[in-house]
Amino acid sequence: MAASAKKGASQSSHFPGHNPFLESVNAYFDKAASIMDIPQGLLDQIRACNSVYYMQFPVRIKGGIQVIQAWRAEHSHHKLPTKGGIRYAMTVDQEEVQALAALMTYKCAVVDVPFGGGKGGIRIDPKQYTEEELERITRRYTVELIKKNFIGASVDVPAPDYGTGPREMAWIADTYQAMVQDDINALGCVTGKPVGQGGVRGRTAATGRGLFFAVREAVNDPKLMKKLKMSTGLSDKRVIVQGFGNVGYYAAKFLHEAGATVVGVIEWDGAIVNPKGIDINALQAHRMATGSITGFAGCKTIKDGNSVLEHECDILVPAALESQIHKGNAAKIKAKIIAEGANGPITSEAEPILLKKGILVMPDMFVNAGGVVVSYFEWLKNLSHVRFGRMDKRFEEGSNMRIVDTVERLTGKSLTLAERQVIARGADEEDLVNSGLEDTMIDSYHTIGEIYFGNPKVKDMRTAAFVSSINKIATSYMSLGIFP
Ligand code: NAD
Repeated sequence: MAASAKKGASQSSHFPGHNPFLESVNAYFDKAASIMDIPQGLLDQIRACNSVYYMQFPVRIKGGIQVIQAWRAEHSHHKLPTKGGIRYAMTVDQEEVQALAALMTYKCAVVDVPFGGGKGGIRIDPKQYTEEELERITRRYTVELIKKNFIGASVDVPAPDYGTGPREMAWIADTYQAMVQDDINALGCVTGKPVGQGGVRGRTAATGRGLFFAVREAVNDPKLMKKLKMSTGLSDKRVIVQGFGNVGYYAAKFLHEAGATVVGVIEWDGAIVNPKGIDINALQAHRMATGSITGFAGCKTIKDGNSVLEHECDILVPAALESQIHKGNAAKIKAKIIAEGANGPITSEAEPILLKKGILVMPDMFVNAGGVVVSYFEWLKNLSHVRFGRMDKRFEEGSNMRIVDTVERLTGKSLTLAERQVIARGADEEDLVNSGLEDTMIDSYHTIGEIYFGNPKVKDMRTAAFVSSINKIATSYMSLGIFP
């Protein structure tokens, strides 16, 4: 749908530009655009936020009425639907939502997900509300989006972000289904749903798993490791993770399980460190039991958690919030690689300081794209109305078994039942989702790598990712015939 067709949507190609996160995203865009041969008008269109909807609605809270402020931004309509999470936090404002929506546009293009970028947010601290109140707020927000045509499988598809998860997505899907009864693809109006309500297996861990694939590919790249004066492989790498939520926990878990040593974990109420390594699965059990990572056995607890960002390590994964590495602490960062799990954790003022120190910054728009990649798979599942693997799993197992039988007959050797089952097993939904995610992250790493190593004007990986992304979006606009 064209931006102008949105009822009540304000056209916002104007950026007030006071928000450091929005300024950073635009500064990164401008840096890449300045070395590209693309007409200025087309660059202006790619950079502009196409529609923003600001809403205020009343919700019954603790016996009274509270007026809730919320936003939904659709940054780019060059591909539809637009796609991006919904955040519940007190920091939410129009510029933050616009910055996050813009990042989604660039992110989708980098990993070849055929969506424009979007983002939503409600300015609340979810910890201050009961589950019932959060449900009322979420359902009312969904109704507002439906009224203005800011949600739907072919229009705009939200997902979880900071402060939201499968529970909120289930409320959104249910509200949409109840109100838009003639939409056969109603379940595709939102992703990140519980598996029992149209979600896809593998979505919860997808962003952390995607980050792991991206980092693994980087540390196994001999050319990159030579440039950074590091050895290849994960086994000698020390990792610090900031934020032990969805992204941070799964990133730490997969890196730990692949042999890296997680030496520090930072949360809002303190950090824990152990140079010998932290068992991430045991830490998660401790957090579930106590509500905090602090006090975990065998680790030193540090009250000023963010000081641990400055500790010695090979790979730093900021996976909490934006603007965590800024001009005040950038010079003290000792990591060799920063993999941006969160969106915008490094300000544009801090980045040159890090680059000057020879630190490799693996940008958010690539590194944390796993969530939107698997959201894309969930949307495809909802539109096709069939579980991945349902049609071919048994057929594949039969074919594999016939190959095993033939090999046994020709060699005269027999396999055990367990060996036969391992070889013959057909792919189920989670196998296919994880395999699609792995392939996407590896492919995107090499596409960005070709620009990073091959274009002499490109000095850092974020600019390489932006060049890749802007090129794809520009091609898409030109194929629409809007630009000559
Ligand atoms: P989450 O709410 O699950 O986890 C965030 C964690 O950070 C929480 O454990 C919180 O306690 C912790 N935290 C908050 N303030 C902190 C501070 N000052 N220092 C250290 N830790 C702090 O959220 P999430 O989904 O993991 O999202 C984290 C970041 O990743 C956000 O920037 C989000 O936009 C981005 N992201 C998320 C996804 C996804 O699929 N969830 C995808 C892409 C990007």
